[in-house]
Amino acid sequence: MPFNNFNFKGSRALVRVDFNVPLNEKFEITDDTRMRAALPTIQKILKDGGSVILMSHLGRPKDGPTDKYSLRHLVPHLQSLLGDTKVHFADDCIGEAAVELANGLKPGEVLLLENLRFYKQEEKGDKEFAAKLAKLGDIWVNDAFGTAHRAHASTAVIAEYFSPDKRTFGLLMEGEVSSAEKVLHESEKPFVAIIGGAKVSDKILIIENLLERATDIIIGGGMAYTFMKAEGGVIGNSLCEEERLDTAKELLKKAKAKGVCLHLPSDSVIADRFAADADVSTAPSNHIPNGWMGLDIGPMAIDQFCNIISQSKTILWNGPMGVFEMDKFQSGTKAIATAVAEATQNGAFSLVGGGDSVAAVNQFGFAEKVSYVSTGGGAMLEYFEGKELPGIAAVKQN
Ligand code: AMP
Repeated sequence: MPFNNFNFKGSRALVRVDFNVPLNEKFEITDDTRMRAALPTIQKILKDGGSVILMSHLGRPKDGPTDKYSLRHLVPHLQSLLGDTKVHFADDCIGEAAVELANGLKPGEVLLLENLRFYKQEEKGDKEFAAKLAKLGDIWVNDAFGTAHRAHASTAVIAEYFSPDKRTFGLLMEGEVSSAEKVLHESEKPFVAIIGGAKVSDKILIIENLLERATDIIIGGGMAYTFMKAEGGVIGNSLCEEERLDTAKELLKKAKAKGVCLHLPSDSVIADRFAADADVSTAPSNHIPNGWMGLDIGPMAIDQFCNIISQSKTILWNGPMGVFEMDKFQSGTKAIATAVAEATQNGAFSLVGGGDSVAAVNQFGFAEKVSYVSTGGGAMLEYFEGKELPGIAAVKQN
């Protein structure tokens, strides 16, 4: 059942959120994006007249409770985000004290539980631990897309203690799932997938899955040069995964057999060193001189790629086209971001997901101009690979 169809009046909603935020040495939150992303879900429950029990992990504590990883540090900021709402804190995420606090919550109040990963059982997906957590709420809401690819106690195993009508995605998770579904399973054609980044090895499974779905696949970034070399090109000192040359050949062959157009950048911005102040030039991507390396797609490739993007109705973008962290090598990524934004304005659905392309659209100010920017790096990558994510399956199962 969609989240907004739930009425939480009089219910205690046990909400798995991803409050794994970065803290500085004074335990101040340096980026609260993940906390703000959970607010719409929390506020809907409170508005209905329910109470909210929040559970999350923070960092990677190794030996049980450690002050450094305590969620207590988040209470003042959570309180400021929620205004007049009363925020309680439980020193332990399970046990009698937590049960008492949860039972004592009044409608409209929030309880934040201590770090789930203070118990090894969380990551092990321990059933007894999940059952103890389940005691704290009447409805389980999974709003932690960032950990949806993990079969942990609070993200997946806990589902079996709630009947299907007592578990749901939160609004953040619903947004992520519906955008990914729209791209992977309901895409309007032509569907272009733009895949970049450093390594072919990280993206093989994604490309294989997309070969079943996309009309065009654009390959940019460092990974393009392994493909170039596989096709017989000369790539100078560009990034190359020698042990993946056969894989690249195989993917090129499969694309041809399936009628998917796999596009490599015809030219590149090349540099004599991997450095922000390197000497730069342009060259055909399959004729890069010795001692030079391709660090961005070139002007002809930009034209070619932007043209494909402008004609597409569905766009998936994962991975930058070049070393966008350095000014001299960001034109390709910027041009692609602009083209994706323009296509979106003309009616295409665009999803940017997974790692550095998300950083790039944020850096260039395009986040508001695409249809959806995913918050879940690793989880979204596994989704694109076609895997079933335990955190999603757990909510959906009968
Ligand atoms: P990934 O995490 O695989 O998406 O890769 C992102 C990283 O790839 C970024 O830090 C980019 O700087 C880097 N990158 C993109 N293009 C190139 C290239 N042509 N050569 C080396 N690194 C690149």
